[in-house]
Amino acid sequence: METNFSRIKETITDMSRFNSEGPGISRFSYSRDDLKARKYLLDICESIGLKVRVDAVGNIFARYEGLQPELEPVVSGSHIDSVKSGGMFDGIVGSVGALECARVMKENNFVPKRPYEVVFYAEEEGSNFQVPVMGSKILTGKLGIEDLKKMKTLDGETAYDTIKKAGFNPDKIPEDVIEKGKIKASLELHIEQSVRLDLEHHTIGIIEGIAGCQWYRVTFKGKQNHAGATPMHLRQDPMCAASECISKIKDMAKETTKTAVATVGFIEAKPNIPNAIPAEVSFTVDIRDISNKSMDDIAIRLKKEAEKAAKNNGCEVTCECGATSNAIEIKDYMKNIMKDEAEKLGLDYIFMPSGAVHDSNYMAEITDVGMIFVPSIDGRSHVPEEKTSFEDIKAGADLLLNTILKLTEE
Ligand SMILES: [Zn+2]
Repeated sequence: METNFSRIKETITDMSRFNSEGPGISRFSYSRDDLKARKYLLDICESIGLKVRVDAVGNIFARYEGLQPELEPVVSGSHIDSVKSGGMFDGIVGSVGALECARVMKENNFVPKRPYEVVFYAEEEGSNFQVPVMGSKILTGKLGIEDLKKMKTLDGETAYDTIKKAGFNPDKIPEDVIEKGKIKASLELHIEQSVRLDLEHHTIGIIEGIAGCQWYRVTFKGKQNHAGATPMHLRQDPMCAASECISKIKDMAKETTKTAVATVGFIEAKPNIPNAIPAEVSFTVDIRDISNKSMDDIAIRLKKEAEKAAKNNGCEVTCECGATSNAIEIKDYMKNIMKDEAEKLGLDYIFMPSGAVHDSNYMAEITDVGMIFVPSIDGRSHVPEEKTSFEDIKAGADLLLNTILKLTEE
């Protein structure tokens, strides 16, 4: 069995038409275009006899029955919403790829041992309520009705009301939460959204781990004083301390693991005027890696370097941990199946980490996950120019299909 190139291309192209506002694709969950896109997908699902269930917030599950319906299903899919002026491949590649696998099974009259379910996640991009990955957070029990009543659109409408107006029933969230162990495995095909596969000319990235994140805010306090009249040796300059510390951060990541990254993306000086030594300088450090231990190690080193820099400059320092999310480990058996199947298909693959957050991050709370990346040309994503070749998408869909076929027989 193999996926159908023209059908994948046609379905992805069709999906890009559910978009009324250019440039690029702006299809927010619960919008008119989203409801049209859902209808289009549901019609395909029904035409091949899938049993469709739509949950409280609009996540769609379409089931291809197995020989043993009592067994936990293997699920695969991605999101069908977009950012404002995004591209036509983000989310859609994995949604259409997962649907294609069901279409292939159907046309070959193949019935797997376990059921297979295609899933289309709602509100992944956070475009409506600035809360990303909402659909999968809700179906895994990480967000509830009360949260939806607090989350708002930029126009001030609550998520609860927006979802209700679109014809879904958020009141039934509690009964739609999927418990741990009720799904055999969850797979997601996705565009890479970065440059590595394109730059190194690989077709497939088999995800070896999904990065977690730790955010710190480092604040140096010194003594505000005149920039002209204060001799250098009498200064307590928090800017000097901050710069000493920041200059070490690149090496902290590079020397810890090959996959770790650390970024200072925000810096603030008080009072932030040109002719005074600042009283206070604070900055954020965003640490990511596919191992929780390595993130912890970097954080320990960050604190040590911050203390050293404070001491060198007669300042005080605090290092507060803000948000964190755990790294997600991909099980060895999952990586091995994908590797074996990629080799059988003769695909050029590499193992790589996933740096961005996907629905799979939350599915990992309730089941084993696997992810496949296909190249983003020039690494561009969340822009109208976002592009992935249909040949690569077909290769990714074939690997997804073969992985599903293996897992549904277990
Ligand atoms: Zn996406």
